[in-house]
Amino acid sequence: MRSAALEMLPLEIQRIIFSGLDYQALISLSATNRFYNQTIDPQAMADPLDKLQFVMRAAKDFPQHRPSEKGQDYHPGNFECYVCFRVRSPDCFDVLQAQYAYVDRLGHVVRDREPTRLDTLVPLRRFCIECGVRSGLHVPSDCLTTKTGRDLWVCRCWRVWPKPGVLRCPDCSGDCPLRPRKKLGVDKLPPSPPPLPQPSVSYAAAPRLSSA
Ligand SMILES: [Zn+2]
Ligand SMILES: [Zn+2]
Repeated sequence: MRSAALEMLPLEIQRIIFSGLDYQALISLSATNRFYNQTIDPQAMADPLDKLQFVMRAAKDFPQHRPSEKGQDYHPGNFECYVCFRVRSPDCFDVLQAQYAYVDRLGHVVRDREPTRLDTLVPLRRFCIECGVRSGLHVPSDCLTTKTGRDLWVCRCWRVWPKPGVLRCPDCSGDCPLRPRKKLGVDKLPPSPPPLPQPSVSYAAAPRLSSA
């Protein structure tokens, strides 16, 4: 269908048509012109599973996202973010992103205190730095290193600055931390807890029923 013709349809009908489109189709349509760019939000409109499958496929199959081996022009390949469901340049990802994080009973990420038995350890999929800051996984005073080797830090007003290019944020006057703060989460699963102590009294085996 030509996009101009689609634009003439009532909004209700357009919405029904959009709801039948997958993430990739929504992205393509939103890129056709300004009208669709403003009307279509692929991120909000697509099915979560579809978005997940799309970024996984895109990062692997689209040639522009694969690493290239050509000498000087070596390009490490792009990565998928499982929060914004975009495939982004390696410059957008923290190389030491936590693999797991503890979450408290209210769903907040545990940091600045030791986790307790009431917290749950959850695996984190890969997320870009922008999403990490927006969702509170990266917080002020965090120091990050991109997959392209750039050093960054997060100021008090939650902006990300290059190190050592900018060592003080002009807006919040926050300074680049001298020492990186304790990183969020854990990189490895903790060893499983020791088995419960066995009762010291041994019980006689229960009589077995005859299997005749
Ligand atoms: Zn993202
Ligand atoms: Zn700031």
